Amino acid sequence: MISGSIDESLRTIRENDGRIHAFLHVAKHDVPAIQPADSFPVAIKDNLVTTDMPTTCGSRILGEFYSPFDATAVARLRAAGGVIVGKTNLDEFAMGSSTEHSAFGVTRNPWDDTRVAGGSSGGSAAAVAAGMVPVALGSETGGSVRQPAAFCGIVGVKPTYGRVSRNGLVAFASSLDQIGVFSRRVAESAELLAIIAGHDPLDSTSSRVLVDDYRDGIDSGVSGLRVGIVGEAIRDLKGEVRANFDAAVEVYRRGGAKVETAHVPSIGYSIAVYYIIANAEASTNLSRFDGIRYGHRSARARTLGEIYFDSRGEGFGPEVKRRIMLGTFALSSGYYDAYYGRAQKVRAKLRADFATAFKQFDILLTPTTPEPAFRIGEKVSDPLSMYLSDIFTAPANLAGIPAMAVPSGFSSEGLPLSLQIMAPHFQEKVMFRAAQFFENETAYWRATT
Ligand code: GLN
Repeated sequence: MISGSIDESLRTIRENDGRIHAFLHVAKHDVPAIQPADSFPVAIKDNLVTTDMPTTCGSRILGEFYSPFDATAVARLRAAGGVIVGKTNLDEFAMGSSTEHSAFGVTRNPWDDTRVAGGSSGGSAAAVAAGMVPVALGSETGGSVRQPAAFCGIVGVKPTYGRVSRNGLVAFASSLDQIGVFSRRVAESAELLAIIAGHDPLDSTSSRVLVDDYRDGIDSGVSGLRVGIVGEAIRDLKGEVRANFDAAVEVYRRGGAKVETAHVPSIGYSIAVYYIIANAEASTNLSRFDGIRYGHRSARARTLGEIYFDSRGEGFGPEVKRRIMLGTFALSSGYYDAYYGRAQKVRAKLRADFATAFKQFDILLTPTTPEPAFRIGEKVSDPLSMYLSDIFTAPANLAGIPAMAVPSGFSSEGLPLSLQIMAPHFQEKVMFRAAQFFENETAYWRATT
């Protein structure tokens, strides 16, 4: 059961968030003297809309925007006893892998505050890792839950595309976006996902497939489970991350799983395809921020054209502008077929490659990230090296399959490392079972920041 005292959560935030900067807004609840028995504190990434706190998306362009409605996932959490103690920091509009692209300052990694917490949901991951909240919501487009979960040594889950309603999640790339969950323990993520999952008439891409009871049989082990190691993904992997991954695979072998090499031949194109499709969709989604409908309007604008140009020029940060330019270029006539059209074809191939691999395997394994948390400032002026952080996570978003990050130990510098488990569409249940097995065998969650 997810549990935690609201009072305690708010106190821990007050004491530690000056250093970590996981939160952009903290609730000013008058905490009731007696907390209802089934209630628990939860942190929400600040690109999910809430009626009682502003939603900034880590951007200046939204100003102090208050939504007139709650995101469906937020409403479902509240109905299940979730008390929102704050909204968490993120890379502007969820574009980034380090939270350094937030307009409001970086989030620090609770394990080493000279390092990033990952991104884009770095605030939610750091809040859970630092013990400020038991659970948090984030969002995923290419790894923004799993990568910060890996950097912060916690569990992070990206469900199947369509498993959770996107109503009230500010859109980045609509064909990839999905709300995800963070926790210290696997079973808490399973419980949290079950609360927010399921069809929603307000999101036509949300699925009508019934939501499984993810905790049913979660402890039944991996004997006979067909586990595939994605050969193409780990071929060039060396050093500590490789050794840690090999050790994780051994845990499954010892548990009686049938471990073999799997093949997803097109996986190496994922980053190229992801950054074309994500930016193309972002460039159209972000056109709604026009200086008229929401938030910031330039004070110097005199004409309609100047309202658009100056408001967007002042409101968006450099990474968002870079993405809008790249995406607009990829969609422009003359280049559409060469970039966007071709990327869609490779995406279809990747989906088919995963489907073929899942005929032979129940789950697929890779590391979650190619390296542990990097230093603040190390990659911020080199966008390409930042984009490569998503090399193992982006494929699941492109294919729409569920995937999760589970703590798998520590580097020699004491930084968390992480195992990624991927499963076929809507097979979250087997994914959670495999993750629970790994947690039971290794118990890395016991280490605290
Ligand atoms: N790091 C990736 C990007 O910058 C993924 C972000 C995300 O999943 N929202 O686009």
